[in-house]
Amino acid sequence: GKGGVGKSTVTVNIVCALQRLLEEEGKPGVGVMDCDIYRPSVPLMLGAAGRPEIANDMIVPMENFGVRLMSMGFLIDEDTPVVWRGPMIMKTIQQFAQNVDWGELEILVIDLPPGTGDAQLSLVQTIPLEGAVIVTTPQPAAFNVARRGARMFDKVDVPILGVVENMSYLETPDGQRQAIFGEGGGAEIAEALECKLFGQVPLDPAIREGSDRGIPIVISDPESPAAK
Ligand code: ADP
Repeated sequence: GKGGVGKSTVTVNIVCALQRLLEEEGKPGVGVMDCDIYRPSVPLMLGAAGRPEIANDMIVPMENFGVRLMSMGFLIDEDTPVVWRGPMIMKTIQQFAQNVDWGELEILVIDLPPGTGDAQLSLVQTIPLEGAVIVTTPQPAAFNVARRGARMFDKVDVPILGVVENMSYLETPDGQRQAIFGEGGGAEIAEALECKLFGQVPLDPAIREGSDRGIPIVISDPESPAAK
């Protein structure tokens, strides 16, 4: 999806929710690989900081809420812009896939930067993907970017699992729903791609606060409509 539609937010909440479910079932856990090399935001949103250690020539992923995590955010300092070109992005993604000791995982979720650039291409050339999830907001401007992204995955035979529509509406104190970013984009794109609309996530200041505090809303307030 387009920049700022909530891809990282959806990622961190999905991984925390999945981790909890898998723990209950006694299954191996969840890893998250942040492939937004230029603007890594997953560490902050998952409340993970520091430098990963090296053991037996492998990078040990960081961990929080039971979720294992690797991101460029752990390797650069916050104020240094990353000004890399394609081949270096490719190399980094290969390292995240091959030189990180993920251990046994049930699911690896990968957060991608917007659009259809080097990260997406490097990724599909490095790891066999089971599927892609499109995150979009309801308005047409986001729709077009999301559809182009979906087409790219289609071309490289990665199935689209479904669409998450984020920022779908704002619920006012009197219970009215305001469609701040328009309506219907998620359903429309799911129909065009012949896949499921997984859900519509409301706009909720608690989501933004949770991201900034490093405690995703599915952990801090699992019964809220947004978390559900
Ligand atoms: P992307 O990864 O697509 O660039 P982010 O996940 O970084 O987008 O989200 C952009 C900003 O919007 C973040 O500050 C995040 O906390 C906020 N945000 C995302 N989804 C919601 C929502 N449903 N309600 C309120 N704020 C949200």
